[in-house]
Amino acid sequence: MKIAFLGLGHMGLPMAKNLAASGHDVVGFDVSPAAVSAAGEAGLTTAGSGVDAATSADVVITMFQTGAQVLDAYRGTADAAGLLEVAASTALFIDCSTIAVDEARAAHALAAAAGHRSLDAPVSGGVVGAENATLAFMVGGSDDDFAAAEPLLQAMGRRIVHCGGPGLGQAAKVCNNMILAVSQIAVAEAFVLGERLGLSHQALFDVASNASGQCWALTTNCPVPGPVPTSPANRDYLPGFAGALMNKDLGLAEHAIDATGVEARMGMLARQIYRDYAAGEGAGRDFSGIIESIRAESA
Ligand code: NAD
Repeated sequence: MKIAFLGLGHMGLPMAKNLAASGHDVVGFDVSPAAVSAAGEAGLTTAGSGVDAATSADVVITMFQTGAQVLDAYRGTADAAGLLEVAASTALFIDCSTIAVDEARAAHALAAAAGHRSLDAPVSGGVVGAENATLAFMVGGSDDDFAAAEPLLQAMGRRIVHCGGPGLGQAAKVCNNMILAVSQIAVAEAFVLGERLGLSHQALFDVASNASGQCWALTTNCPVPGPVPTSPANRDYLPGFAGALMNKDLGLAEHAIDATGVEARMGMLARQIYRDYAAGEGAGRDFSGIIESIRAESA
């Protein structure tokens, strides 16, 4: 079984390496020559183009930045054939990029029209999860296609959840990250309020982490240094999960909120707060660094 892995960036390269290390025949490609050389140096077999990698492939995995990149690569351009055109018949297309739900559904429709099978399978767990093969995969598509992909996803991740039909992997990702954004802001506001009231960080942590305020934003990604030594706050907010990526994901949430008409006031406020954060230095800092903006803006 030939697997083409396209998009060898921060996430794609370690994922492709884990897939190859588990005994699969993987051929990688990236439009960035630097990414292709890094992949070659890491021992991955690489091709000269996306079309070369995908020709006669039984499985085509994509890990790009945007939905437009996925749709363009599937369809091809005036100068280059599309991946759907050159892959083996009834190939399985797995897109792991984080893209909008409607873009994912468009990708599924293109794959089906070309006689292929397809899944949307965005991930969480970041670069560390990609390197350690501990990613969580949220998968949308049919039961049969999920069953076919599961062993491959297991080589790159730890928790593989079939969320439902086409697009529902992306739906789960966007909903989860909206919860995360809102809760990270709430935890940061609570610490700043506690500071102003004379409460120590440790005391608030000891109470809230064992009470109803408990959440990942507090107990893993604690926005103040001290209580959780591994949180980004202890290394000057080095990511972690960068503000730019949270801003991107909240843009996808906003798109979904607009499309469905949901009254998501907290989600939209979080979207605005992280858009401002990512417009400055926050783009490259962990998203828990939002606490510094809250402190700075507090009278
Ligand atoms: P990245 O920019 O490092 O990698 C994307 C790669 O895709 C780039 O190297 C780019 O050159 C390549 N690419 C684009 N179009 C291509 C094409 N047609 N053919 C071949 N290669 C192409 O991004 P990343 O951090 O690896 O993230 C990838 C996706 O995963 C994004 O959608 C992101 O939102 C999501 N994600 C990232 C993280 C993270 O921590 N970095 C965590 C979870 C999800």
